[in-house]
Amino acid sequence: MNIKQLYQHFKECNGISTDTRNIENNSLFFALKGNNFNGNHFARQALEAGAKYCVVDEEKYALDSRYLVVENVLKSLQNLATFHRNELAIPIIALTGSNGKTTTKELTNAVLSTKFKTTATLGNLNNHIGVPLTLLQMTDATEIGIVEMGANHPVEITFLCTIAHPDYGLITNFGKAHLEGFGSIEGVIKAKSELYDYLKANHKTIFVNENDPLQIKQTLNYDKVFKFGLRTSTDTMLEMVNTQPYVTLSYNGSEIKSKLTGSYNFNNIAVAIAVGSYFKVESDDIKNAIEAYTPTNNRSQILKKGSNTIIMDAYNANPTSMMAALENFEQLVQAKKVVFLGDMFELGATAEIEHQAIVDYLEQNKLGKTYLIGKNFYKTTVKHPSLQKFESFDALKSHLQNHEIKDAFLLIKGSRGMALERILELL
Ligand code: ATP
Ligand code: MG
Repeated sequence: MNIKQLYQHFKECNGISTDTRNIENNSLFFALKGNNFNGNHFARQALEAGAKYCVVDEEKYALDSRYLVVENVLKSLQNLATFHRNELAIPIIALTGSNGKTTTKELTNAVLSTKFKTTATLGNLNNHIGVPLTLLQMTDATEIGIVEMGANHPVEITFLCTIAHPDYGLITNFGKAHLEGFGSIEGVIKAKSELYDYLKANHKTIFVNENDPLQIKQTLNYDKVFKFGLRTSTDTMLEMVNTQPYVTLSYNGSEIKSKLTGSYNFNNIAVAIAVGSYFKVESDDIKNAIEAYTPTNNRSQILKKGSNTIIMDAYNANPTSMMAALENFEQLVQAKKVVFLGDMFELGATAEIEHQAIVDYLEQNKLGKTYLIGKNFYKTTVKHPSLQKFESFDALKSHLQNHEIKDAFLLIKGSRGMALERILELL
């Protein structure tokens, strides 16, 4: 079956399904393969559950005309997404970066959707499957698409660009994340900049944060840039007003009080303002959209439990975001601070150095009682008595049973696999 025929079938359906536990009526089911499963096995089940057609890549599973046989299901999903995207011919904004992609995507979507019918990446569906699924969510009604692109290896962003063909793009930051796959910070810069390379090669627009020298350097001789930043004299001028504990900034002379903590969120908000102003969203609508946005999923959420106030940042962690969180926590004016840090994953050979660097920072900038949890932190050399190591979550749990924490301001941050949100139950 060729792509045009597949597209015709797609137009007859209500959307895409890839999981038989979650089949939408009248959808087009893609029988994807994983390391431990073969979607072809579930094709029949998908039809029984309500799918209209099934895309399979093994002839023997195709029982009647509802089975659409292609050479490779994943490739077909990606090609269909590109075909659909080109048919729609709407502006697509792509964003990538080491930290803050989802937050920035959601803020940007909140701002743009006050004026346009937008379709944005759902949650964190930012890879070689998520990006096509996002594009296929777009309909004739969609006026602007916002696509989050994630990567933990070189060439992934280039590949995602050849699927999504973005017209606009930005990089939230270059940080020490996924060093296992990228090798070094230089590797991160090169890999994330694949988005710039694509946009430049196709003469598309780049949103550039003027406060980031790396972004400036990488776009120096390029003319299609829209610049924004703190107190710059360029396209969008912003000022930081306050970060205690939420980021308040001023834009066009009016104050925007966000519900996001962490000075690092200034950049994420700045992107949304810049994109909004580029697409001529009214200042008041930009302000209202940002003020209404509340982070979810343990992404720098401020919570209360008993007498304690908590910055819950247990969604994920890497050296850059952990340092940003610590620096922010240090600036917050609170009497009694307590820090819980869990291991950072996917650091490969740099794991030991990066965990020790965090400990060294803590030794110098005593933030208060600090609990370090996990095998990596356990291996670090700790001198100051305010820092305490635990090899596992259970070890921390037994300790806290005899050491209650009260009237404190807490920071909780660690990689997803550490699931440090469990600490809430111990307080
Ligand atoms: P993922 O790689 O899982 O897709 P992401 O890039 O989408 O992550 P978010 O989910 O928006 O990032 O944010 C995750 C965490 O990263 C936040 O809770 C916060 O701790 C941190 N963070 C967000 N923005 C920044 C930033 N600009 N600089 C440093 N750290 C940040
Ligand atoms: Mg994300």
